[in-house]
Amino acid sequence: MNDLSTLSVQFLKGVGPKKAGILARYGICSIEDLLYFFPRRYEDRTHITPVSEIREGQVVLLKVKILALKARRTFSARRMSILELLTGDETGAVVCVWFNQGYLKEYFKPGREMFLYGKVERYGGRLQMSAPDFEFLEDEQGDAEELKNNSDEFLSAGRIVPVYSLPEGFSQRSFRKLIRRALDEHLSKIIDCLPYLIRDKHNLLNLAKSLREIHFPENADLQAQAYTRLAFEEFFLFQLPIVLRKMRKKEEPGIAHVMEGEFLTGFISSLPFRLTAAQEKVFEEIKSDMRKPSAMHRLLQGDVGSGKTVIATLASIAVVQGGCQSAFVVPTEILAKQHYEKITAQISGFEGQNKKINVALLTGGTNSKSKIKIMNDIRDGKIDMVIGTHTLFTENVRFSKLGFVVIDEQHKFGVGQRALLPQKGLNPDILIMTATPIPRTLAITIYGDLDLSILNELPPGRGTITTCTFSENQSTKAYTIVKNQLNSGNQAYIVYPVIEESFASDIAGAHDMFERLKTGIFKDVSIGLIHGRMKAKEQSETMAKFRNKEISILVATTILEVGIDVPSATCMVIHNAERFGLSQLHQLRGRVGRGGNDSFCLLISNQQTEDAQRRIEAMVKYSDGFHIAEEDLKIRGPGEFFGARQHGLSDLKIGNPLRQLHLLKLAREDATLLLKNDPMCRERTNILVKQKLLQRFPEYEKFVAVG
Ligand code: ADP
Ligand code: MG
Repeated sequence: MNDLSTLSVQFLKGVGPKKAGILARYGICSIEDLLYFFPRRYEDRTHITPVSEIREGQVVLLKVKILALKARRTFSARRMSILELLTGDETGAVVCVWFNQGYLKEYFKPGREMFLYGKVERYGGRLQMSAPDFEFLEDEQGDAEELKNNSDEFLSAGRIVPVYSLPEGFSQRSFRKLIRRALDEHLSKIIDCLPYLIRDKHNLLNLAKSLREIHFPENADLQAQAYTRLAFEEFFLFQLPIVLRKMRKKEEPGIAHVMEGEFLTGFISSLPFRLTAAQEKVFEEIKSDMRKPSAMHRLLQGDVGSGKTVIATLASIAVVQGGCQSAFVVPTEILAKQHYEKITAQISGFEGQNKKINVALLTGGTNSKSKIKIMNDIRDGKIDMVIGTHTLFTENVRFSKLGFVVIDEQHKFGVGQRALLPQKGLNPDILIMTATPIPRTLAITIYGDLDLSILNELPPGRGTITTCTFSENQSTKAYTIVKNQLNSGNQAYIVYPVIEESFASDIAGAHDMFERLKTGIFKDVSIGLIHGRMKAKEQSETMAKFRNKEISILVATTILEVGIDVPSATCMVIHNAERFGLSQLHQLRGRVGRGGNDSFCLLISNQQTEDAQRRIEAMVKYSDGFHIAEEDLKIRGPGEFFGARQHGLSDLKIGNPLRQLHLLKLAREDATLLLKNDPMCRERTNILVKQKLLQRFPEYEKFVAVG
């Protein structure tokens, strides 16, 4: 295909190997890449202000003539060169200054007319502009030819002007010229991949027009239309693999589990609580999926503490009852241990009936002798249910009949890892769990290859959680609250972002602070330390001591972030709270408020950036995860929020799923429609779509093929 996606930027005048090298570092290799390098923002320079009307602080566009030029040096030690330009129109004159840009002298010839754009400042009683953006009304002789090519239009004045995030070595002016050249010389060759019918249906601009308007908009309305069209295209291409993956999954044969029986009923009635209505509903959704002869791929979203574990356990029990194995994967050793202990305790609570369930724990910390035995037993089918960390993903772990996989706290695993485990079975059913809830519609489109269940209710009888903030030197106040909680027989966590202090930063480390607290303010209290560099055995011993209240305060790193469930812990102190991401803070806070008593989350922080301040304010303001997630999305933007986890999202250049949810949904509908009629994209109009997709996401076929 003779297309602009393979035509090197070096075909543009002014781009040699050196510039091409720089552009390549910004992902701009082809002319198409360049055309898809969108402005960061725009400046409205349509209105020319007469010089007599300028005021201090305004940002203005002036049309002036150069009246005089003065070049001098400062007398200070640094000896800067200063260019002073006196310019004016019929209404008045204004001085512009440039520092250390002596070469500009060559261009600033008295009599030349130019546009100036910049901020008006007051300096020594007079108004002036320092280093304003400028463009000459008429280019110099040498550039005459270029001017013709550029169809006599000004690029930096008298219009809405694009502003780019510049690759180094370019000025806004030179980059605008480059883009303009690419548009003028090559736009006619661009191929629009969006089928005409889709464009027509939504009244979308064609691609050539959109690219022209996104860079050099005729007016704000056309810019908006161009933006819509380009965002739609991006969403459309982004949704295609997701939709296709979902369609493929549905077609693959899986295991039809029997989801009821005495075993399951016995287990449910032995639980010390009744399932909430939300839990019942979600379990029904899961059961109906698992009964089907195709594999389930379901995402369970539920706020911290909403009771996801028990649901996964129920489904596991049902699977085991039917003779298959289940695997429960979690991100940390201590969480694996916790689940293992809780589940074995729950199971032993009703055993003695017709079948015994063998549960095993397998983590990186399991000693090698037991490891071999457990792996053999898994392979021989002697173990029904295995709970573990990413160790379960390793090659040596083979199952006899894996029918169900649970992935807890999925945001801690990569997409690649997530795909490994199912390959170990015959298309097992998969339940992915996360406490990072995102708005439902957004979830459907982002995790669009998964079905979605939501736990929107906390179990009854929980106390409230109060969140307060303190500065570093108010720590004692926070510790007083801790002491009060301990006096009432409760427990507390104190979290630090790092294990050890370093010379490079002034962040207190968990290890040093543990020593200090132990001998200082909490010298009369039993206090323990837990972090990721401790041996698995030590970790679990410390956790056990905390659980049975031998330890009252647990000093920790973020190892506690996910899943830990100790209902008598009612106080969470987080030091250097500015260091943590919003969902991390929310997860940490989720470690308290798990029992009937009221709890406290005490955020201690100093010197905050604006974002950190927003995060901390959001923590104080919102307690439920949905609000927190929305806020987090706003602060970080979708690319970073979802990270590289979801294919293609971080590649979105222009589409913003938050602001254009409606557009994203339309794009998804159209993607679904197209694939239903033509799954392989073989029809003439769809071949272009597929080519574009391969060019944008070279790995898309791999993604679609993943189990
Ligand atoms: P998360 O959704 O954060 O993983 P967990 O599954 O750890 O939450 O559950 C939090 C706590 O709530 C656990 O102690 C669990 O035993 C308890 N729990 C779960 N479901 C119920 C229920 N229906 N009623 C009372 N307590 C429940
Ligand atoms: Mg959990």
